[in-house]
Amino acid sequence: MKLKTEVLHSGSHFPRYAGAVASPIFQSATFAQQTPESDEHPIRYIRLNNTPNHLLLNRRLAALEEGEAALVMSSGMAAISTTFLGLLKSGDHLLLQKHLYGGTYALAVNDLPRMGIAFDWVDLDRPESWQNLVKPNTRAFYTESISNPLMAVPDLAAVVDFCQKNRLYSIIDNTFASPVNFKPLPLGFDVVIHSATKYLNGHSDLVAGVVAASQPLIEKLLPVLNRFGGALDPHTCFLLERGIKTLVLRVAQQNESAQKIAGYLQEQPSVATVNYPGLPDHPAHGLARRFFKGYGGMLSFALRGDMPAREFVQRLKVITDAPSLGGVESLVSIPAETSHANMSARERAAMGISENLIRLSVGIEDVEDLIEDLGRALG
Ligand SMILES: *Cc1c(COP(=O)(O)O)cnc(C)c1O
Repeated sequence: MKLKTEVLHSGSHFPRYAGAVASPIFQSATFAQQTPESDEHPIRYIRLNNTPNHLLLNRRLAALEEGEAALVMSSGMAAISTTFLGLLKSGDHLLLQKHLYGGTYALAVNDLPRMGIAFDWVDLDRPESWQNLVKPNTRAFYTESISNPLMAVPDLAAVVDFCQKNRLYSIIDNTFASPVNFKPLPLGFDVVIHSATKYLNGHSDLVAGVVAASQPLIEKLLPVLNRFGGALDPHTCFLLERGIKTLVLRVAQQNESAQKIAGYLQEQPSVATVNYPGLPDHPAHGLARRFFKGYGGMLSFALRGDMPAREFVQRLKVITDAPSLGGVESLVSIPAETSHANMSARERAAMGISENLIRLSVGIEDVEDLIEDLGRALG
């Protein structure tokens, strides 16, 4: 099936439960003992991630990422920590891309060292520098398909080649691209992670995560997930399943609107720079065109020096000033105040993040209303 059909039908249970067209919510912690199916845990229990709501989502998410298997989890961070806990052990070493999502960065610096897992930061713009960082105990390379907030895109094929050559697990956080715009597994990545809180659900009303990979890797991760306890509640499974149904339509609209808004912002005298991979002069444009089907709904832009970012966002009426992304409502945030607030202005500047940089997650409102809102706030 094609993606537009898969989001509705992949992995559905047949026959339908009581004929229900939408999945019923199995809000039951435990289930009566039954003859165990060969490849499933003999006990059905919510924390074991094997209620009908979990099993359907696991099959559907695997189909969307073209993986053999997938696991839905209680958050994007649960997906990331379960992957680390499942694939790495004390004494291992890991390569992490610089400028990671803040939660992943915090997990790496606070928790990996006390578990005996060492890491080095990798400069994705300089593949020639990667080999020197590989040690005999290096096990994995962790990257993101589009990074926050400058929308950098790594040479994804170079990452896969490098990992295959050095026998490392290649792990990618594909949250910003969504499977509509990019599918890492067919390119050769071993593990794909999502914060399903963002595009997959798309309605800013739940927290969930996903890992998709080969069957053997998922079998390695499932017992770790079961033991550490990052299970998603069945009611939230239902909401996520419902959100995913419109994924392709939402992301197609967001791709189109973000492209228009990026073009509009580029022409405004009060805007200094616009970061959007769909713009021909963005440094990642060539890589994004090579690997992605669409350039996504995320962009950032810096105002000229005389306009403080805070003043600008306070003038917005349609677009809300809130962290997070990927929902149907457009959101802005000021990285210097949110995702990158724990750094000094100088450290931010060294990363290319100016104090008046604004990140925009484009929603599905009429793009003319969004452009009008931005134009009014630019004054
Ligand atoms: C939000 C986010 C996460 C964390 O996901 P949660 O669902 O908030 O736990 C991880 N990676 C990226 C890129 C994100 O945007």
